[in-house]
Amino acid sequence: MKIIKFGGSSVANHDNIKRVFSILQEKLKRSEIAVIFSAFGGVTESLLEIARLAREGDETYRDLLQTLEEKHLMLVRQLIGVHNQSTVMTYVKVRFKELEDLFHGIYLIKENSPRTLDYVASFGERLSAFILAEALSAQGVRTQFLDARDVIRTNDRFGQAKVDFETTNSQIKSYFGKHEGVKVITGFIASTAKGETTTLGRSGSDYTAAIFAGALEATDLEIWTDVSGVLTSDPRLVYTAFTIPQLSYSEAMELSHFGAKVIFPATMQPAMKRNIPIYIKNTFEPENPGTLINGDVSVGPLIKGISSISNISMVTVQGAGLMDSAGASSRVFKALAEAKVTILLISQASSEHSICLAIKSHEAFLAKESVEKEFYYEIKSGEMDEVTLLHNLATIAVVGENMKHNPGASGRMFRALGRNNINVAAIAQGSSELNISAVIPQADLQKALNALHEAFFLSENKVLHVFLVGTGLIGQALIKMIANQQEKLRGDNELDIQIHGLANSRYMAFHEDGFDLKNPYQLSDTDDKTDLNRFIEKMEEMNFSNSVFVDCTASQDVAELYSKILEAKVAIVTPNKKANSGSMENYLALKKIAKKRGVKFLYETNVAAGLPVINTLQDLMLSGDKVIRIEAVLSGSMNFIFSELEKGDPFSEVVKLAKEKGYTEPDPRDDLSGMDVARKILILGREAEQTLEFDNITIQSMVPEDCQKASSVTEFFEKLQGHDQSFLDLLKAAEAKGEKLRFMATLENGKAKVGLNSLPNSHPFSSLSGSDNMILLTTDRYLDRPMIIRGPGAGADVTAAGVFADVIRIGNYTRE
Ligand code: ADP
Ligand code: ASP
Ligand code: MG
Repeated sequence: MKIIKFGGSSVANHDNIKRVFSILQEKLKRSEIAVIFSAFGGVTESLLEIARLAREGDETYRDLLQTLEEKHLMLVRQLIGVHNQSTVMTYVKVRFKELEDLFHGIYLIKENSPRTLDYVASFGERLSAFILAEALSAQGVRTQFLDARDVIRTNDRFGQAKVDFETTNSQIKSYFGKHEGVKVITGFIASTAKGETTTLGRSGSDYTAAIFAGALEATDLEIWTDVSGVLTSDPRLVYTAFTIPQLSYSEAMELSHFGAKVIFPATMQPAMKRNIPIYIKNTFEPENPGTLINGDVSVGPLIKGISSISNISMVTVQGAGLMDSAGASSRVFKALAEAKVTILLISQASSEHSICLAIKSHEAFLAKESVEKEFYYEIKSGEMDEVTLLHNLATIAVVGENMKHNPGASGRMFRALGRNNINVAAIAQGSSELNISAVIPQADLQKALNALHEAFFLSENKVLHVFLVGTGLIGQALIKMIANQQEKLRGDNELDIQIHGLANSRYMAFHEDGFDLKNPYQLSDTDDKTDLNRFIEKMEEMNFSNSVFVDCTASQDVAELYSKILEAKVAIVTPNKKANSGSMENYLALKKIAKKRGVKFLYETNVAAGLPVINTLQDLMLSGDKVIRIEAVLSGSMNFIFSELEKGDPFSEVVKLAKEKGYTEPDPRDDLSGMDVARKILILGREAEQTLEFDNITIQSMVPEDCQKASSVTEFFEKLQGHDQSFLDLLKAAEAKGEKLRFMATLENGKAKVGLNSLPNSHPFSSLSGSDNMILLTTDRYLDRPMIIRGPGAGADVTAAGVFADVIRIGNYTRE
């Protein structure tokens, strides 16, 4: 005999039920089965909601009840042909009439005891199982509807009744002995010896199935749901969660006890007792093997899964000299047991006179009250403090039998939490060493789960979550590069880069699972309007571990948000020079925040695009070298102009050509003014640990005064012609000396200057042509021959490549 249970989502609508029936038809060909059904998806919730409204005197409960009745009648019509409908229609209508009376009573007396609620909830399963039994029988299956209240006997703890197995087992066996046909059974519900309706706890239909499996010594128990088995973590919070192929009964119990909703914790007990294997299967993907839960302790991964419980409060009981006596802790537990408070986690430090308990938040005040009542005199005399409560917490637990005697797990767990700046309020390890659990802020839950999931299951693959602002040439090139390298990075570098947020100056969009980079997302007016503060909030809400903000704009507004972003523990990568070339104070402040928050702020592309200038300088400084002099050609456009000038064309023509080739800014004066070069040498100077302000840089502009005043670019070019001769004179004078004109920046003795220099042919800069950059670093160690860094220092592709390299660097920094 196989016991097969289908959950609410598997029978939520006609389409789903068709799948269920085809699974059942297959099973029937092969073995004897009994089927347990939950209420149709969402029905239990609606019944309880209607009861709440009725109790509060809200008459809309009647509308909801009617909708619920219609939903059931509709399913009857969809599932059963007209000729066979009458019995079942009558059954449904009679049940709803009873419900109507019941809710009217609740409405009048304004009372909803757990006893009443259990009775209310029982209608869900009674309706679904009856309708489905009739529908199956209409398909030619010989069925026998069984209301489990007739056989499962419990105590009267309404809402969470305890099973009397002796009576239950014998009643089940006797029932099955006397009745033919495929039993179609209500999940979730039972009754007391006095015949009062009880329930086994929310989600308890799994347990019903296990009770039947145990009583009938079934060969297997199958739980069919809407996911492919027990996953490594809650798939709603960890998108990379995957199916655990096999779990021991204890592991499954522990995972579900700590929040894995997919299986009700008590389900494992009856199965374990008789060693009945439990299969967790997906109604929507029946061919997936799902999860097998049995008695085997496989030699597998260190941990099997991670689960969590939200809305937790922590109760701290303390009092010097009192709490270290064993008697006191047992009084705490007794008080909580009497108040029926469930304790999820206990943590007690041997050196402290306190005990911390994690409990569900809705029981927190009850817990405080009952412990304070128990210790009334001790609190009054000051021997013990008042009980304190801490709210907005969650518990997370990593579970697996292989953790036994293996100290690696806790190290890995707390390292992952620590690295992601997640505060741990309490820690506990079960004495069976099956789980390690911790209490953390609720707000960090998703981040913590993902960080742990990554650390334990994807440790081969580190995931970086990128949020990109600026989708111009550089941004686009970056997306393309990440897309092209994604597979290789995953394979060779164990690094997975996903983009979760995109914004340009007008619109922004987000994707929880990461945008598909192969078909780049086009921002449009159907997206939200860009709001940078909202963008940051969204990054915080997504709360991924290892988030990186990539700023591919040249915007001052974006740069001003860096401190806020770093404070939110999000790393930054950017070619945008605005932040680092602002005040020295701001430059230092950003470094300080990044350090304090343990995140990286990388900006290799601030100077000379992807050329390794800033990293090289930082490495030199770290290793104790000292910069004596920096000479640099840092503007591709200026280098193009002055090396091109040597060919003999007039200056104004050469500038025009540079503009046509896209080497200059739209207004070439932005390049010719030397401002951009000044910003770059400023940043290099600061990286060389010099205190520099922009205003102290001597800048020789290449824009003649009258050209500066020109109101348009066209007018500027006209005026520039008037200066062609003086540039020619400069060139001739240099050539007469056997020299070349180069626009460069110099930093020496704490002074930076930017301007045109006439350099001997032997100078390294003289050989520079086109739009290349070159940087000469003269240091204590590179004294006789300076270190030379040379290459293309501008362009979207090389800049994007530099940004990409910084992003990858962050992946390497954050690796364990
Ligand atoms: P049913 O209606 O079939 O009883 P439930 O909603 O009770 O289904 O349980 C299945 C759901 O449990 C899944 O859809 C998933 O969202 C949630 N869940 C939470 N943790 C886990 C986990 N570790 N593995 C699988 N599912 C989980
Ligand atoms: N229908 C019940 C509930 O929603 C029991 C179950 O689905 O397992 O809690
Ligand atoms: Mg369930």
